[in-house]
Amino acid sequence: MSSDKIIDGKAFAAGLRQRVASAVPAFVKAAGRKPGLAVVLVGDDPASQVYVGSKKKATVEAGMESFEYRLPDSVSQGELITLVEQLNADDGVDGILVQLPLPSHIDDKAVIAAIDPAKDVDGFHVVNAGRLAVGEDAFVPCTPLGCLMLLKDRLGDLSGKNAVVIGRSNIVGKPMAQLLLAENCTVTIAHSRTEDLADVVRRADIIVAAVGRPEMVKGDWLKDGAIVIDVGINRLAPTDGEHKGRLVGDVAFDEALGHVGAITPVPGGVGPMTIACLLRNTLVAAHRRAGLLAPEGL
Ligand code: NAD
Repeated sequence: MSSDKIIDGKAFAAGLRQRVASAVPAFVKAAGRKPGLAVVLVGDDPASQVYVGSKKKATVEAGMESFEYRLPDSVSQGELITLVEQLNADDGVDGILVQLPLPSHIDDKAVIAAIDPAKDVDGFHVVNAGRLAVGEDAFVPCTPLGCLMLLKDRLGDLSGKNAVVIGRSNIVGKPMAQLLLAENCTVTIAHSRTEDLADVVRRADIIVAAVGRPEMVKGDWLKDGAIVIDVGINRLAPTDGEHKGRLVGDVAFDEALGHVGAITPVPGGVGPMTIACLLRNTLVAAHRRAGLLAPEGL
């Protein structure tokens, strides 16, 4: 396996986290306080608990303040929105993240709408989605932002490339397509109703797969030299032959290696970028709220 074909998201994310951490002391000096990120977790979903724990650890390691709110499954939508409003009004909080998914009795759109767009470090508020769509400064969702950073690091200028984004979620697919469009790519968004996906993918110089189906994209779908960003995180069943519960992406990695110019592995590709970009967005939010210029090169 040629290691220059592997896009090492873990190493890139570590560098970004380091750059964020090294910009924190200057903010503290200028603003008289640390940047603060509030994370709200409702219920006891094990995966969400792991994500929230990792976010807290990374926030503290970057020298920022972490505020954590764990609410029971039984919390009402009104109570959750009241907490969001309190965090909006709290000057020490620069970023608010409500961990999704929320229990089914709570409308996640209503909760996201309650977050002050200036503190919406997840970039899910319609104001930020709209700003991204019209090319204004916006908080961009962390996962697609991380994907874009990895692409630009590998390719430099993306202008004129044929990019195919597989998946059209508000969290990954749609903002990813907007980001690629803003980089002057020719963008196709494929989804569950796309006909002949293999043929669509074959034309792409850049593929971002964000579907949630293990190894759906086959090696022979890929144009030689294509750059593949695999967002999917799928755990194979413990009974699944020799695979035994391992994590795989949406792209058949071993097959793809014979075709691609470069590809992100799962794990160790896009995953680590998400938290690093959350720290980056929090630092930027803190600077904007304090009337300071955010550091360049993040
Ligand atoms: P989602 O379920 O909201 O969206 C999946 C998308 O895939 C949909 O738009 C759907 O149209 C499309 N799709 C479904 N079946 C398809 C098919 N057969 N052909 C083509 N398209 C199809 O998921 P999401 O939140 O966007 O996440 C996608 C994947 O990315 C999941 O595996 C998730 O775990 C992973 N993810 C990873 C990170 C990370 O930090 N690495 C962050 C977010 C999501």
